[in-house]
Amino acid sequence: MRIFDLVITNGRILDGCGNPWFWGDLGIRRGRILDIAARGTLHGKKIVDAAGQFVTPGFIDIHTHSDLSILINRRAESVIRQGVTTHVVGNCGMSPAPVAEDHLDELKHNWGSIAEQPEITWIWRTFSEYLQSVQDGGISINIAALAGHAALRMAVIGLADRTPTAIELDRMKEYLEEALKAGAFGMSTGLVYPPGCFASTDEIIALCTVVSQYHGLYTSHIRGERETILEAVTEAIHIGREACVPVQISHNAPKYGAPYDATANLHLVEQARAEGQDITVDNDLHTDLAPALVSGLPQAIQDLPITEIITKLQDPATRISIQQDIIQDRRPAFGPAGLLKHGQWQRITILYAPSNPEIIGKTVEFIASERRQAPFDVYFDLIVENGIEAEAIFDYIEQKNIRILLQHPAVMICSDGQVLAPYGFLNDPPPYSPCSYGEFPYLLERYVRKEHVITIQEAIRKITSFPAQRLGLMDRGVLRPGAWADIVIFDLDRIRDRSTNLYPYHFPLDNYPHSYPEGIDYVFVNGVMVVDRSEHTGAMPGLVLRKSN
Ligand SMILES: [Zn+2]
Repeated sequence: MRIFDLVITNGRILDGCGNPWFWGDLGIRRGRILDIAARGTLHGKKIVDAAGQFVTPGFIDIHTHSDLSILINRRAESVIRQGVTTHVVGNCGMSPAPVAEDHLDELKHNWGSIAEQPEITWIWRTFSEYLQSVQDGGISINIAALAGHAALRMAVIGLADRTPTAIELDRMKEYLEEALKAGAFGMSTGLVYPPGCFASTDEIIALCTVVSQYHGLYTSHIRGERETILEAVTEAIHIGREACVPVQISHNAPKYGAPYDATANLHLVEQARAEGQDITVDNDLHTDLAPALVSGLPQAIQDLPITEIITKLQDPATRISIQQDIIQDRRPAFGPAGLLKHGQWQRITILYAPSNPEIIGKTVEFIASERRQAPFDVYFDLIVENGIEAEAIFDYIEQKNIRILLQHPAVMICSDGQVLAPYGFLNDPPPYSPCSYGEFPYLLERYVRKEHVITIQEAIRKITSFPAQRLGLMDRGVLRPGAWADIVIFDLDRIRDRSTNLYPYHFPLDNYPHSYPEGIDYVFVNGVMVVDRSEHTGAMPGLVLRKSN
């Protein structure tokens, strides 16, 4: 009789490939699933009784920004408790490596205050050394990394708004090649953010040609998500065709100001696929985002030291020209800036303003009427008064588009969040982060159980085998003999996201709980139990995954 290290018995098994569930047992040894058999037939040194709950592959979050926060909270608290066992980092052009000594300050500035935390040692220079730093201290989830185009560019020409010379482009290619050899799964761009927005299409094609040689993936926060969304999707498809790389269009919901709903961008994706191009899409499920107010400013001034930004905003003539830049939006700014461009001040709610706590929870429109000022002036004054700390919730995506994307077979679901924890730096000041604490339970609770927008097996496919296939991780994201034992056991009837406020614009802020979800009872990473009856075991069996070439 074969005795496994671990047997999960009595579960409704969803294999991750979109098939309906079946009753069965899983036998696990040395981190991998070795057998799947009829219910009650396998023997193990340790038995976990799933008690009729769903047993599925661990969730794979293909779009996150945990690059640095995983170093602060290696237990990956907000992530593992959702059933997520793998985070893909390095998205939207941003990765913490490679590092060039003379541009380290710019890279740190680009990452913001987290870059100054003691856990972020910046001891790495190459991509390989960064990946090793992640692995060395132990991690509770698996990490797969993309090389960020902005980081490659900053390592060579910093934040300069210009085209790299041929020699500089070659140096970017060398950095990229080092990352791909170290196991990066591809390259990402963030074409609305500095310095990604300074890059031409040709620059990206040239780099993607290197990605193609390593059979990697090109992922993109495209060059406009509102008025110019179709042009931006077309550019991403064009890059894929010219460089011969598969393309993943990141968080592709049209943002406020887009002339069409999501069927229009999906139509372009379908057309490209019909012509034989491997294009896929991801999207997250929340309709809002809570960035700093400064990130709504034009890219050309966004990365200046905050004192210089404030000086500009205090000069009446410069203030007017900044306002005009935002409205003209000639170089498309990131999604939320559409609310400024179109004067949707009632959709911008102040979340954090240490110098003016009395305005927290009020919209810019409301504050403008209180102060008898134009809303643009209020927005700028709040930056002058609070610096980079002023944050607001931008309600900028239509619910309708979330549903259209969710139901499309070529769209997988991601969080666009990061590892957080309700203690320490990652909770201070409290960021608005339902995506980081609740994305996956929210998918299952709301869109599967309550609203029946998609089936359970389709929802699970979009967060397991589909992202695994996209990354080329053919032995993860599925429950099959031979696959790694990344496994979740959850009760669909009890699953509850406790971080997405159903009344999101009602304050005080204790309506924004950093709370773990309910109903996810067990989570295993590489065969080791990390969540036991909803509590973290402290285990750190996570691996830095490397693309094998
Ligand atoms: Zn992005």
